[in-house]
Amino acid sequence: MADRSAKIRLFVHDDLAEGAALRLDLAQANYLFGVMRLGTGAPLLVFNGRDGEFAATVTEAGRKDGALAVGERVREQACGPDLWLLFAPVKKARTDFIVEKAVEMGASRLVPVMTRYTNTERVKLERLRANAVEAAEQCGRLDVPEVAEPVALGALLDGWDPARRLMFCDERSEAGSLAGAPGEAPPPWAVLIGPEGGFSEEERDRLRGLDFAVPVSLGPRILRADTAAVAALTLWQSRLGDWPRGDGS
Ligand code: SAH
Repeated sequence: MADRSAKIRLFVHDDLAEGAALRLDLAQANYLFGVMRLGTGAPLLVFNGRDGEFAATVTEAGRKDGALAVGERVREQACGPDLWLLFAPVKKARTDFIVEKAVEMGASRLVPVMTRYTNTERVKLERLRANAVEAAEQCGRLDVPEVAEPVALGALLDGWDPARRLMFCDERSEAGSLAGAPGEAPPPWAVLIGPEGGFSEEERDRLRGLDFAVPVSLGPRILRADTAAVAALTLWQSRLGDWPRGDGS
């Protein structure tokens, strides 16, 4: 496993098993052979979010396509905590940042949420999904979180499954209570981050009245939405998630 980090990782949709041959599409060929400069015989790693991670070798390197031979499985499939990130889309570069960092931080599903003060720039889903794939390839995780269609906050809350807790990041909140029993798998959660303009009074009132919602402070300073997303996921992972907690759990 020592050299695993040195290898290029490629997310594929195909089923994976030792001995399989994979065809590469234009984007994959461009990435592997154009950008990363791999040639025939080069080793890499492939994963599909279902079958684990496999060693692979380039068997054909074309300008528009190519092929890989799949070798042995090097990691069993594993998945992280059931943790969604609900975020109000902000400006393009900051939204890209939110998606990339949320994938690195181990979020399992990303949901763009339209709120009262969300700047209604169009959400480029294909771009966000490509960002998610790239971040997953880079950070070593074995799955790519889904980037869901944008949804209005009200509709999202109307259809909410109350078994999923909602960490409502509210700069006006005094405290955060994210207590979890050490060693126990946490229930499903979602983190909610508002837009640069914050939540409206109406939205805040509704969120504060929901049994499944837990208002959480991220400290005494007002964070930009992208910073808040990383801070909130960090807080959750360190309290309830898959980070070592130093208490043996
Ligand atoms: N409009 C607000 C700030 C919004 S910051 C104002 O200027 O006063 C964008 C989002 O980041 C907020 O909706 C909230 O979800 C989150 N956030 C920022 N700072 C926070 C903090 N200290 N505690 C909790 N959430 C915070």
